[in-house]
Amino acid sequence: MTAMLTLRTPIRGLERLGRAGIVTTLRANFTDLGWETPRILAALDDAPMHFEALGQARLPTWSHGRVALLGDAAWATSPFAGIGATLAVTGGYVLAGELATHPDPYAAFAAYERRLRPVVTAGQKSAPTMSRIAHPRTRLERSLLQRPLLRAGAWAATSPLMARLSRGSANEPTTVDAITLPDHSLAQHPGTENSGEALGPTTQMQ
Ligand SMILES: Cc1cc2nc3c(=O)[nH]c(=O)nc-3n(C[C@H](O)[C@H](O)[C@H](O)COP(=O)(O)OP(=O)(O)OC[C@H]3O[C@@H](n4cnc5c(N)ncnc54)[C@H](O)[C@@H]3O)c2cc1C
Repeated sequence: MTAMLTLRTPIRGLERLGRAGIVTTLRANFTDLGWETPRILAALDDAPMHFEALGQARLPTWSHGRVALLGDAAWATSPFAGIGATLAVTGGYVLAGELATHPDPYAAFAAYERRLRPVVTAGQKSAPTMSRIAHPRTRLERSLLQRPLLRAGAWAATSPLMARLSRGSANEPTTVDAITLPDHSLAQHPGTENSGEALGPTTQMQ
């Protein structure tokens, strides 16, 4: 069994407590939650465990000289944003395309950042809200925030009405889809042999 426990707290430095202190902290915070929690807490004594503080990387720029950062190294959004893997793959595509179409890497890095920065910023903004929903502080919050959301999610996953609505809105971009990606498939580096055509029309990421 692999389990993930997350804790929202203003206290900093818990990751430096050492294993015994971390286990005590987790037990104190998760003790009365029922379901599988007692089994998970009991396993904490012997199970392999990784504990760290979650955060975001917000760098003023993603490149310095001829070195550029990508994915979590550039803009880690935290697991609660639910968009890190999407952005890492998208970033790789955009960076590769810009390098292929700009002879000057500095220009390529600037274009890459111009294109992705707004989407990354929007993705990072969603993390605190999602974290608050995932960590209700009272039973009332839990019943108001989590249960309706879980029920709505389960209903949305199986409802024929939702399936029809989502088909109908397929052309309306969500936050994640709001980036317009250039079609780099035929991109050609200005300094290389002729292997394709110039940039094609832009396509919407789906
Ligand atoms: C618990 C959890 C849940 C998540 N849930 C989601 C989700 O639902 N949706 C979503 O989109 N994202 C989610 N994410 C975020 C997502 O996993 C990351 O944003 C994404 O993996 C970042 O990709 P990356 O390629 O930048 O980095 P990574 O996936 O971290 O890849 C970096 C790689 O580099 C390797 N490496 C590190 N140092 C060295 C070195 N010195 N030499 C060689 N190799 C090295 C590492 O081993 C690793 O394989 C979640 C993350 C976590 C932790």
